[in-house]
Amino acid sequence: MHAEPRASRFVQRLGDGGQRRIRVSFEFFPPKTEEMEKTLWDSITRLAPLKPNFVSVTYGAGGSTRERTHSTVKRILAETALIPAAHLTCVAATCQEIDAVIRNYCTAGVRHIVALRGDPVGGIGERYAPHPGGYRNAADLVAGIKRLSDVEVSVSAYPEKHPDSPTVEADLDMLAAKVDAGAARAITQFFFENDLYFRYLDRVRARGINVPVVPGILPVQNFKQTKAFAARCGASVPDWLAERFEGLDEDAATRKLIAAAVAAEQVLDLVDRGVTDFHFYTMNRADLVYAVCHLLGLRPSHEPTALPLAVGERAGVRGVG
Ligand SMILES: Cc1cc2nc3c(=O)[nH]c(=O)nc-3n(C[C@H](O)[C@H](O)[C@H](O)COP(=O)(O)OP(=O)(O)OC[C@H]3O[C@@H](n4cnc5c(N)ncnc54)[C@H](O)[C@@H]3O)c2cc1C
Repeated sequence: MHAEPRASRFVQRLGDGGQRRIRVSFEFFPPKTEEMEKTLWDSITRLAPLKPNFVSVTYGAGGSTRERTHSTVKRILAETALIPAAHLTCVAATCQEIDAVIRNYCTAGVRHIVALRGDPVGGIGERYAPHPGGYRNAADLVAGIKRLSDVEVSVSAYPEKHPDSPTVEADLDMLAAKVDAGAARAITQFFFENDLYFRYLDRVRARGINVPVVPGILPVQNFKQTKAFAARCGASVPDWLAERFEGLDEDAATRKLIAAAVAAEQVLDLVDRGVTDFHFYTMNRADLVYAVCHLLGLRPSHEPTALPLAVGERAGVRGVG
């Protein structure tokens, strides 16, 4: 019997002189404790040799991690050759306060900000009310950042619509407004059905929005948590995914293997369908993401990644891989 080669043998195709280059970015959150700090830095050290396009650091709800986001970003700048992208939200702060954060980032040498509206102070599900003296939404924030600096700005995108958005059209209007204000890239909320991403991409392009829309990939470290989080942020969890994790609540080792298989299947399908850039929600853990990147054909580069940089150099834009 003659079997057709599976489509996901793309790695060999790339090896055969294909021009497509896979680019990845990694998202981390600022650690709360010393133990979490160690986990984060172990993960950064493990993932850095894969030469990501950038690594981003989230900003806690209501600006609650402002200092920790800043110090994590500063440490990345000081101790690695990675390009950090600092997340920033509009929540619970005046424009002046947010402008001060932007200036602080710029002074520290940050050249990339992920600009977000953020969730309501009371948490997801509450009605969002902009701060009276603050930026009204993410598009307003992008414009504010661009007024102060020429840093690169990325924004969010929602293949399944943001829960606050009355319609998909309203969602696309917001994405268009963010791009018109100067955003260079959109990063999607995580999703598990690739068709949702491609349907969304078609609508984005039909709306005349031409920036890269980088799929956000969440390797499922913990299915229960993922399900709860997905429900709050409007991402669907398909039945087939639940079935794959069924009965594994007490079996972390098998869960991890399944998580790797699920993430691998998702990214390989995306590559087969033309995607070259991926943003990984790492949850500050390296192993699954490292394995998936390996499958994508990325290999560690042994050029030094912990460069003691001259201060002047930090402010410059270092080569984007
Ligand atoms: C890649 C990525 C990174 C993220 N990083 C962080 C982070 O670091 N910190 C954090 O706190 N959160 C983060 N979030 C979550 C994000 O803050 C929430 O999803 C938030 O609810 C919306 O912010 P936004 O910038 O995505 O919204 P926007 O793009 O401004 O809006 C999303 C949608 O909601 C609609 N909308 C906005 N405001 C209203 C309103 N008042 N009434 C009705 N509809 C409205 C818009 O039309 C739009 O369709 C991230 C999300 C993504 C996808």
